[in-house]
Amino acid sequence: MKFSTIEGHEKSIRILQRAIANNALAHAYVFSGQAGIGKKKTALALAAAVNCLNARPEGGCGECPSCRKVDTFGHPDVHVLVADGDEIKIDQIRQVQADFALKPFEGTKKVLIVDNAEGMNAASANAFLKTLEEPPGDALIILITAMPQSLLPTIRSRCQEIRFHPLPRKTLARALVQMRGLSEEDAWFIAALAQGSMGRGLEMDIEQEKAARDELATLWSGLEQMGPGEALALAETLAKDRERLERLIEIGVEGLRDALVYRETGEERLLIHAQARQAGHQAADRYSLPRLLADMELFMASRKLLDRRVSAQLVAENLLLKFGRG
Ligand SMILES: [Zn+2]
Repeated sequence: MKFSTIEGHEKSIRILQRAIANNALAHAYVFSGQAGIGKKKTALALAAAVNCLNARPEGGCGECPSCRKVDTFGHPDVHVLVADGDEIKIDQIRQVQADFALKPFEGTKKVLIVDNAEGMNAASANAFLKTLEEPPGDALIILITAMPQSLLPTIRSRCQEIRFHPLPRKTLARALVQMRGLSEEDAWFIAALAQGSMGRGLEMDIEQEKAARDELATLWSGLEQMGPGEALALAETLAKDRERLERLIEIGVEGLRDALVYRETGEERLLIHAQARQAGHQAADRYSLPRLLADMELFMASRKLLDRRVSAQLVAENLLLKFGRG
């Protein structure tokens, strides 16, 4: 992993490169920001940079034996700690501490990367604090977390925090075209759904996402021809699978958002689902602004009721009857 292959995060990476060039790296960092946006990749690139055999101020070479070992998690001086079960246990911390007492085997710096660092329980956090208070001279510690506020304040205050922001949709779409071979249109669609997370963007099943939207479109268009009896029967069916109902409501919110955005801006690039633009055109033309806003409110309220564990049947009935009112 090298800095130059990481998508986005230019500012965070520049801070690290400058510190490397000036020999001014902190002993400990917190990399914070939502899951799946590149924090761990950057941590690995930093671990590689400080141990690279052809080290340059801009980072590791990505090719030397040391860099390659970091990439395959086989470098004896670079530890990546992940939770054992739901927590990072004190034994895991102790093991690392024992290793940190030794000189680096191969590299120049011992590096410890703690993934999901908020998973340290009280005992391990306190043990870990000792390492932070008296870090060995050649050690570098990187805590990765989406919840920096869950770290002990005494831990957080001893680390330099580097914030990672969600990737812009354009950056993500461009990367997805390259990495997944998606069409431009599909890449923009997935990039919107992934909400700035490269990890999510790479994992998402595009056919499944499209199928879910088609399903909802069919359902809504059918609803207009239904009488109340049929709508109630449909609500009963929908309520049987709460998760699916939640998903459909989520997509409904997304579709209405697209219709509203398109109505107000006429800007196709801002839509989440470009393939729904036909439907979006129709919805935006067919419905007045107050109607779209009322529907949006109805969907958001339904979502909130489901979150509050209100009966799925009640939520589905209310939604279908009100939405189908014409
Ligand atoms: Zn290298």
